[in-house]
Amino acid sequence: MRVPPGLTSQDFSSALQEFEAAVGKQWVFTSDEDMDLYRDSYSPFWHEAQDPVPSAAVAPDNVEQVQKVVRIANAYKIPLWTISTGKNLGYGGSAPLLSGSVVLDLKRMDRILEVNDKNHYALVEPGVSYFDLYEYIQERKLKVWIDPADPGWGSLIGNAVDRGGGRTPMRDHFDAHCGMEVVLPSGEVLRTGMGALPGSKTWQQYKYGFGPYVDGLFSQSSLGVVTKMGFWLFPEPEAYLTGTVGVPAREDIVPLVATLANLMNSGMVAGNTSVTSPVAVAARQDSEFAAQHAGPGGPPAQELQQYARTNHLAYWGVELPFYGPAKVVAAQWEFAREKFSAIPGATFQEGATRRFPLDSKESEKFPHTVAMGIPNLSVFGTGSSHSEGHIWFSPIIPMTGEAVLEAQQVFTDAYQEMGMAMGPLFFLGPSSSYPRCFLVLFGFPIEHDVEKNRKNREHFKRLIEVAAAHGWGEYRTHTAFMEAVMSTYSFNNHALLHFHETIKDAVDPNGILSPGKCGIWPKHMRKEKA
Ligand SMILES: Cc1cc2nc3c(=O)[nH]c(=O)nc-3n(C[C@H](O)[C@H](O)[C@H](O)COP(=O)(O)OP(=O)(O)OC[C@H]3O[C@@H](n4cnc5c(N)ncnc54)[C@H](O)[C@@H]3O)c2cc1C
Repeated sequence: MRVPPGLTSQDFSSALQEFEAAVGKQWVFTSDEDMDLYRDSYSPFWHEAQDPVPSAAVAPDNVEQVQKVVRIANAYKIPLWTISTGKNLGYGGSAPLLSGSVVLDLKRMDRILEVNDKNHYALVEPGVSYFDLYEYIQERKLKVWIDPADPGWGSLIGNAVDRGGGRTPMRDHFDAHCGMEVVLPSGEVLRTGMGALPGSKTWQQYKYGFGPYVDGLFSQSSLGVVTKMGFWLFPEPEAYLTGTVGVPAREDIVPLVATLANLMNSGMVAGNTSVTSPVAVAARQDSEFAAQHAGPGGPPAQELQQYARTNHLAYWGVELPFYGPAKVVAAQWEFAREKFSAIPGATFQEGATRRFPLDSKESEKFPHTVAMGIPNLSVFGTGSSHSEGHIWFSPIIPMTGEAVLEAQQVFTDAYQEMGMAMGPLFFLGPSSSYPRCFLVLFGFPIEHDVEKNRKNREHFKRLIEVAAAHGWGEYRTHTAFMEAVMSTYSFNNHALLHFHETIKDAVDPNGILSPGKCGIWPKHMRKEKA
């Protein structure tokens, strides 16, 4: 039997018995076979001693059982690692950061407590997946959309507390939440916002309640176990229209993104979109051209520009999503076209206008339905052709064309410096997953090969440093790199980390919740590390 760090096997056996008494014997797991299911299948430590393996998993069914588990963990000083549906692939899966932790698995808490299609919100438990909520809404023909992450099997709560993103106007998932219920490390239950007012009628309608706003402390956090969370939903729109803008020259990215930012920040374009490069895509598929430029860094910009001219391809493109009444989205697209027409040579292509509710035959025509609030797993295959899985390197950069060009140059130089070709990394165009900035996602390969993974980890750390040196930080990261990322948020001698540590020590003195998450260690483990 594996034992949590710092515990004797005798104490751990007693704790397991207490967990069984709290949640039922069949909901405490310790076998190797079960523990394998809680490992990270995209682990950058495959076949290495550092690959974190839990010592047990405990699956409570309700908030009272969560409280009991947390209190037992506190009494024995057992580190817990909370998961909702545990599908955090690319950022750690369901595995704890600290090997030997007990996974607190909340999948059984899968109740949809309320969906309101007059004020457009839902209140759910952690085990509710995007598929579950979508089906619930469809069965009742409610006129609201959810905003799924690309893989629809994840949970609203797990994804939102890790500050995940989607595609519709509600795509910033933590921002779209309203009200939380949290079990604190002491076992006490707290409700945030209006939920603190007994009998409150507006828990899911007004976020702030009274006094300091604490919800952010429970995101990417080791300060509590979230047992309920409210989410604002999007009223089902009449129509969804997409229009694609293409621009011919590399430098056109500057006015292209400036116009996009203006349309987004004024609410005209309100969904997720990416800046893509149609010429780069075509050049990659042209075997002759690709073979000529197979080395690290890919083709030089001038050659790509020439290729675009010769083949009448746009250098940059952006697909604009519009949601609302059919007349309004048509007018918004017309207005956008007018604005982008200021860029000489801009081209426009109107996509289909979809009206809602979609009939099922119509929805089958669109394999990627996430932008219309319909969860699926079509994007989940991304990267499978590249490796055994991937982890995401995900810096945030400014929403300007200059920043995109700079990032492209900086990361191309970094690949070259590390001797990496574009191949092992795949790069998704800068996207507007979050308002006012771009998220750049690089899928970093995972292999079942110790040497390759070691090298990839070094490269990943190097990219974190390179990004930070240019003023770009990651929005979220795999558990293996949390300390490295936190160390870059170092303004004023790491004042932010020290503040987090002060709160951690006060709220969780025994350091039982998710030790090490985001580089924040409990006091006793911090000393060991120093
Ligand atoms: C191909 C691919 C595409 C992806 N696309 C997206 C995407 O579009 N958008 C996106 O955001 N992500 C994406 N991801 C990342 C990830 O798969 C999703 O974010 C997924 O929803 C996270 O899994 P989960 O919801 O089961 O959360 P979990 O795995 O349950 O948890 C996520 C994190 O939150 C913490 N946590 C979970 N529940 C609680 C709780 N109740 N209380 C306190 N802390 C908790 C966990 O400790 C963990 O750190 C993608 C991954 C892959 C491989």
